[in-house]
Amino acid sequence: MPVLDLPLDPCYSPPMAFHLTLKPGRERSVVQRHPWLFESAIGNLSAQPPDGAVVDVRGSDGTWLARGTWSGKSQIRVRLWTWNIEEHIDAGLIQQRIATAIAGRQAIAADAGTTAYRLVFSESDGLPGVIADRYGDFVVVQLSTIGAALRAQAIVEALVAQLAPRGIYERSDAEVRAKEGLEPAERLLWGEGVDGPIEILENGQRYSIDLVGGHKTGAYLDQRTNRRRVAAYCAGADVLSCFSYTGGFELEAAAAGAQHITAIDSSAEVLALAAENARRNGVTTPIEHVTGNVFGELRRFRAEGRTFDVIVLDPPKFVHSRNQIDRATRGYKDINLLAMQLLRPGGILATFSCSGLVSADLFQKVVFGAAVDAKRDVQILERLTQAPDHPVLLTFPEAEYLKGLLCRVAGSTSD
Ligand code: SAH
Repeated sequence: MPVLDLPLDPCYSPPMAFHLTLKPGRERSVVQRHPWLFESAIGNLSAQPPDGAVVDVRGSDGTWLARGTWSGKSQIRVRLWTWNIEEHIDAGLIQQRIATAIAGRQAIAADAGTTAYRLVFSESDGLPGVIADRYGDFVVVQLSTIGAALRAQAIVEALVAQLAPRGIYERSDAEVRAKEGLEPAERLLWGEGVDGPIEILENGQRYSIDLVGGHKTGAYLDQRTNRRRVAAYCAGADVLSCFSYTGGFELEAAAAGAQHITAIDSSAEVLALAAENARRNGVTTPIEHVTGNVFGELRRFRAEGRTFDVIVLDPPKFVHSRNQIDRATRGYKDINLLAMQLLRPGGILATFSCSGLVSADLFQKVVFGAAVDAKRDVQILERLTQAPDHPVLLTFPEAEYLKGLLCRVAGSTSD
């Protein structure tokens, strides 16, 4: 088994201990165990820590408050790992946190119909910057902070010891790593490589997943529970699934007895995988795969007078920084308005946003604006969020990024 040459030893601990003192009045979020410490809260530093080093955080009166890792290039200057002075950020702590995270997924692990799910969800599992997803016998990790990246060896060792996977890949997202001054990393970290798509199960459906070339760590695991929720409205329905990717919403809708399914994605390549996934599951519901831009295709359907019973809108992340919020809300409103216009009276709209910077409240306002313009009465039947293997720590509400509204869209208000 190759163990790659990882950047540092398991318990990266530089020879010096560093500490910082907070500015007066900036203790509150740290005391309340929020795991991010912004540069603006820092009063002074004992010495300049190297990136990834352990730093103790003291209140303005010198009281020890927390311990974290330094990210000199990020606005989030310190990621806090512990509020217990006895606890050290070392291989033992990583081992223990990973064990707790895995134990928290026992119910999912026990479900023989689901072999792909998130094992470790960053701050929510006490491991800032560490994501680990299980795909059958393989694990895909994403290390998005320098503090996590420098502890790759300890993370890999803990995953190997506790899961004995066939292989561990790194698929570290370029966008977030750039904010930490890290290069994107895509490589085999341990064990066997895969030379093509692998098969996993989700809710009893078979999926071919490309761990090396696919989106995110390979699939959108966060929508697992929502695919089921939406399918509950699909029996006998004419379904339109927008932003299909590998066809998860369609497979569940077909299993629930949908009559006809249309799936749109801008990538012909992912639609080929979606079609392959439908064949793999022996789907008999006709599925029409449309390669195109959802914004344009929905307009075309409107011009053609096409209508549907259920429409799913699961767009990619529209907002990557605060200055994109306005533009993104216009995009969300546009597709929601078009979808409402394409729904038959009493039809179902399942609409999502995975942009963390768009709050559930703002998203609901956008859908409201679309309903007003579409002149349709819309009832919220269910509020949806990310699957439970993507938990939200109460002290870290930022972890909640996926929101969805499952709505019934009545006939025209002017009728
Ligand atoms: N619904 C999917 C996940 C969607 S991810 C699931 O359940 O797994 C977003 C998808 O939208 C990607 O496959 C991407 O190729 C596609 N996409 C992005 N922008 C698009 C656009 N403007 N029109 C159509 N598809 C788009």
